[in-house]
Amino acid sequence: MLQLPVYLDNNSTTRCDPRVVEVMLPYFSEKFGNAASRTHSFGWIAEETVETARKQLAELINADKTEIIFTSGATESDNLALKGVFENYSSKGNHIITATTEHKAVLDTCKHIEKLGGEITYLNVNSDGRIDVDELQKNIRSTTILIAIMYANNETGVIQPIKKISAIAKEHGILFFCDAAQAAGKIKVDVIDDGIDLLAFTAHKIYGPKGIGALYVRRKNPRVKLIAQTDGGGHERNMRSGTLNVPAIAGFGKACELCMNEMETEATRLNDLRNKLENNLISLGDVSVNGNKEFRLPHVTNLSFKNSTANNLMIRLNTKIAISSGSACTSALPEPSYVLKAMQLSDELANASLRFGLGRFTTEEEIDFAIKEISDMVHKLRTENHAFIKT
Ligand SMILES: *Cc1c(COP(=O)(O)O)cnc(C)c1O
Repeated sequence: MLQLPVYLDNNSTTRCDPRVVEVMLPYFSEKFGNAASRTHSFGWIAEETVETARKQLAELINADKTEIIFTSGATESDNLALKGVFENYSSKGNHIITATTEHKAVLDTCKHIEKLGGEITYLNVNSDGRIDVDELQKNIRSTTILIAIMYANNETGVIQPIKKISAIAKEHGILFFCDAAQAAGKIKVDVIDDGIDLLAFTAHKIYGPKGIGALYVRRKNPRVKLIAQTDGGGHERNMRSGTLNVPAIAGFGKACELCMNEMETEATRLNDLRNKLENNLISLGDVSVNGNKEFRLPHVTNLSFKNSTANNLMIRLNTKIAISSGSACTSALPEPSYVLKAMQLSDELANASLRFGLGRFTTEEEIDFAIKEISDMVHKLRTENHAFIKT
């Protein structure tokens, strides 16, 4: 029997893997020590656990464990990377290049930096959601200190030309920060091979707990320095103070290990299921894929359903399928997604789009169910629409 609603919103968060929960449990009870306590075994056990997890995180992205800074999530990692670099490299320059389709955690932080005297260039994207590397090249100034471009987009799954971006950054001696919250653990992310200097990721997008994330900060070629944004105690090599969340860190480590071991088979399995879902919905007619189909996460599809607004689809299906539109649903009137708007979609088409994020616990039975339910509802809404237009 299917458990309803079927969860297809794994880009917003994922269920914690039971194997991760199991690893975390002792750290709420008998192993409750503070990892900074140096005088007794409670502290030593906690510290050893944190260092094991740090190694597991580092291995996932091919970093050294001394390059991992624990934070509360990708939002904080984004803040620390951008503000920390901006403050530390102010004598070199005040210019940062990013893109209009970045996560709000990057865009809002850039807005804040502008108020502090920073200059930010927001690159447009092509209609397939990727930046134009020539545009990036053209916008570099003598004062540019940082390029901040995400690995894969949270609404469309579109993967940016990471190696080309890092090559340009390197050529000009500019740091490259990458928000990899959607990519790390799902596809190969390799900070050496990809030429990334700072990288943000988070546990709850990879079947780990919420409220724990990390920032990779390169230690050589070049050695990156940051000004801490949270002071007190000098934890995490003075870059992020505060008692470490040991249970969550243990879980994050396990989550990384599982992703590493299962990445290849999972990516293939989910790619097949995603394609099945996508192809069946496209066959309804007047359904189009948003974003580059080649450079895209294997488990994500963003579709526009012409003549049936996404909001209607979502609301009428929400007892059966949990999905989201890219739009910010904080207001009563849904705003069209700024990511899709940046890809030159009309308001109408942007408002008619849905994001499907498959995940580790998605089954073929669930995908078959989703295809049937969505197809029926699209037919129904289009018939209603048609009747409405006629009268
Ligand atoms: C989810 C997400 C974030 C925010 O991560 P939190 O851990 O929830 O703070 C940042 N960037 C991207 C691309 C994301 O998908």
